Amino acid sequence: VREAGGNNIVSLSKASHKALNRRSVVEKRLLLALDQRNLDVYYQPLIDTASKKVIAMEALVRWHDEEIGTVTPDELIPIAEETGLISEIGMFMLEKACLQAVEWHTQGHDLKVSINSSIREFRGKNVAKTMLEIIERTGCPTTSIHLEITEKFALEAESETSIMAQMRTLEQAGISFILDDFGTGYASFRYMQLLPIKTLKIDQTFIASMLKSEKSAQIVNGMVQLGKSMNFSVIAEGVENEEQAELLQQFGCDVLQGYYISKPALPSELKAFLK
Ligand code: C2E
Ligand code: CA
Ligand code: CA
Ligand code: CA
Repeated sequence: VREAGGNNIVSLSKASHKALNRRSVVEKRLLLALDQRNLDVYYQPLIDTASKKVIAMEALVRWHDEEIGTVTPDELIPIAEETGLISEIGMFMLEKACLQAVEWHTQGHDLKVSINSSIREFRGKNVAKTMLEIIERTGCPTTSIHLEITEKFALEAESETSIMAQMRTLEQAGISFILDDFGTGYASFRYMQLLPIKTLKIDQTFIASMLKSEKSAQIVNGMVQLGKSMNFSVIAEGVENEEQAELLQQFGCDVLQGYYISKPALPSELKAFLK
């Protein structure tokens, strides 16, 4: 490793050595887990504030590896994004969630499923086509699928055009897009304008501070009103108590999600909840 501006070769610190090592171990085990389809999918309900009914389930990846133990999404997803394995996780989650939606529909539950994806996952030329093929194989109606998108980094201008084209294809096929972590992303307002998004999901950090700080509450209210004035549907995530739920309802928030309603869980554990 060369120091910036100099010719000195400096050795990596012990800590960054360890981090690099961990990353390559996680990558190696992840490849295997994807190959063996050894990831789990948990689901977290979203309820409509007006009807109080569960209208959708968000799919969240869970991974317990027999060698390296549990790897949280907060560690897993950034590594998957760097190594490009994020697309394979995305396709895996899409297929699993679609199959689960079909099962819920068969049981009489009219639920949508929401799958997380990084905007970068739409970079490839055949992404939309591949996704639509997977969906068709599962028999899940495209109108039951929501894709939650986030972007933590700036996109290169040239990939932006092709990403928009892929997203339009999916939207025209019936899929809806949700702008996740609204208020914290790299370019929330830009994406609201450019991308085929119909729903905003206000980031949980704003919900967490809403009762403690008048300013946070005003920001949340402002985000809800902005969304409504543009005909977006508005979701609040990370709702942990009744006070937050009530305030959000007063603001006119359409959909709530959080531990107050339910933690993410396996479909078998959500059976009682759905009744
Ligand atoms: P996210 O999409 O914003 O998901 C919400 C996170 O907050 C989830 O963490 C969820 O378990 C947690 N959560 C839900 N309700 C509450 C609450 O009331 N209070 C608090 N404190 N937390 C709550 P999780 O499952 O660890 O996922 C973290 C992030 O990792 C997700 O944030 C998402 O960005 C990413 N992620 C998870 N699964 C996937 C996936 O399959 N694909 C991609 N691309 N990203 C994923
Ligand atoms: Ca999400
Ligand atoms: Ca979020
Ligand atoms: Ca988040």
